[in-house]
Amino acid sequence: MLPEDLFAKLVADQTTSDHPWSAAARRWEMLAVFNQLWETYMLTSSGDVFIDRDEGVLSPANLEQRKVAHVQAARRYLQLRYLMPERPPAARACPLCDGSGEVISDGRRTLCGPPCNSKGWVTNE
Ligand SMILES: [Zn+2]
Repeated sequence: MLPEDLFAKLVADQTTSDHPWSAAARRWEMLAVFNQLWETYMLTSSGDVFIDRDEGVLSPANLEQRKVAHVQAARRYLQLRYLMPERPPAARACPLCDGSGEVISDGRRTLCGPPCNSKGWVTNE
């Protein structure tokens, strides 16, 4: 895990940015790492993940949501690369992004969603 002060700096940087996620980071003092529809995935320094829903409730993430949050955090923050799961030997390149973890959408580069969730690889599990 990250040293507490390094994680605190990531959160502090996010809260003072003009990023759309900064409000959630301020509210919960956690790092916002992923957003879909009305949910924002919040990461704690211990690697725990909570889901911020629009109604202002913070719920613990389930296992799948936790995996998504860890991969997204690893993709967005160099310091959080250790959260990226190891590629299993039997994994194949993602058919959508061809292994890059990124796709072009509306003319701009964005992280690949399902099936690889920006990992660049998929398994048969
Ligand atoms: Zn992909």
